[in-house]
Amino acid sequence: MDLIDIGVNLAHDSFDADRAHVMERAKAAGVTQMVVTGSSVEATFKAIALAREHPGVLFATAGVHPHHAADLTDAAFAELEELASQPEVRAAGECGLDYFRDFSPRDLQRKAFARQLDLAARLRKPVFLHQRDAHDDFISILREHRKDLAAGVAHCFTAGEKERDAYLELGLCIGITGWINDERRGQHLRDVVRGIPADKLMIETDAPYLLPRDIKPAPKTRRNEPAYLPYVVRAIASARGESAEAVASSTTCNSRQFFGLPASG
Ligand SMILES: [Zn+2]
Repeated sequence: MDLIDIGVNLAHDSFDADRAHVMERAKAAGVTQMVVTGSSVEATFKAIALAREHPGVLFATAGVHPHHAADLTDAAFAELEELASQPEVRAAGECGLDYFRDFSPRDLQRKAFARQLDLAARLRKPVFLHQRDAHDDFISILREHRKDLAAGVAHCFTAGEKERDAYLELGLCIGITGWINDERRGQHLRDVVRGIPADKLMIETDAPYLLPRDIKPAPKTRRNEPAYLPYVVRAIASARGESAEAVASSTTCNSRQFFGLPASG
């Protein structure tokens, strides 16, 4: 299989001790390319450095997660803009709104989100979007900017049919993680994923978070890694009544086009 993990926090310090092995295991599992999520200025800096070390395999996004929206000062934004214009960076974000945790005040979240959408539009790069418990504000801000945006993906989608349809109506793609492998809280996603057109679907691990719950034998630690992406593929395939190969090939084709990735070596 030739799989692309569109959301992996490979710059996370939990990978510092064995990042090379994590990448080898990903390759052995058929994960040929990965987009490393930039969730703060510092994480973006690291993501770009990783992409430079592994050209053609790793790519980066450049953004400030809504949790860190309060840190997006004018000086930080200028830095982010410089980073986002680098060729390794294939999308702006992760950006969006998170009213579930509310780690940053909501007005600052909305401001940081709008600024990053403007940046994406100026750079003509797609956006990598995060939304949790903030659907109405999220959609209204997106609607205002949609005509200027090249493309967008709602990453780590865990919501319901209403949210799915609103995103599809805006022409967004939808990223599915191992949340769908969770027999308790992921059940509804199995129905929701059936209604995503094949050309709008992408896959991601969100590693080191969201370890799929159906890995056999169960790993020794809770740390997720990109080598587990095939579990997500199989869960999506079974929910959609498709083969794993069909899910792999359509999601890879979509991701390659969306992020402008070369064919894998
Ligand atoms: Zn996220």
